[in-house]
Amino acid sequence: MVDFGFSLLKARQINYDHNDRSIAGYIYEREPSFRLCIECGGCSATCTTGNFTRFSLREINILIKRGENEEVRHEIRKCMLCGKCTLVCPRGVNTRNVITLAKEAFQKRGINAI
Ligand code: SF4
Ligand code: SF4
Repeated sequence: MVDFGFSLLKARQINYDHNDRSIAGYIYEREPSFRLCIECGGCSATCTTGNFTRFSLREINILIKRGENEEVRHEIRKCMLCGKCTLVCPRGVNTRNVITLAKEAFQKRGINAI
């Protein structure tokens, strides 16, 4: 990691050298609209699962982009694939397909996310 002469709190650090962003790459390749996400949270506000649990698609999107996949793997199984988030996204991100592809990417690695 580069030494900038100061450091961030450990909990605030994102180690891109260590993180695995291949799940994000898998999604970008098959659903390019994922690149348009501005992390506004509209999807989370309307999410059916989010109304009953602390599940947040906005957070999932951020974690996937960062390559912090462990929490994503645990969380995305809560998604019911109802598609409400896709209807409200102001950027036209096919969020439902993003989640489907994320699950598919985990499965191809032999990791069960469903
Ligand atoms: S509503 Fe669309 S742009 Fe906003 S956080 Fe969700 S996926 Fe991203
Ligand atoms: S498809 Fe999943 S993330 Fe989107 S609104 Fe439905 S339960 Fe929430």
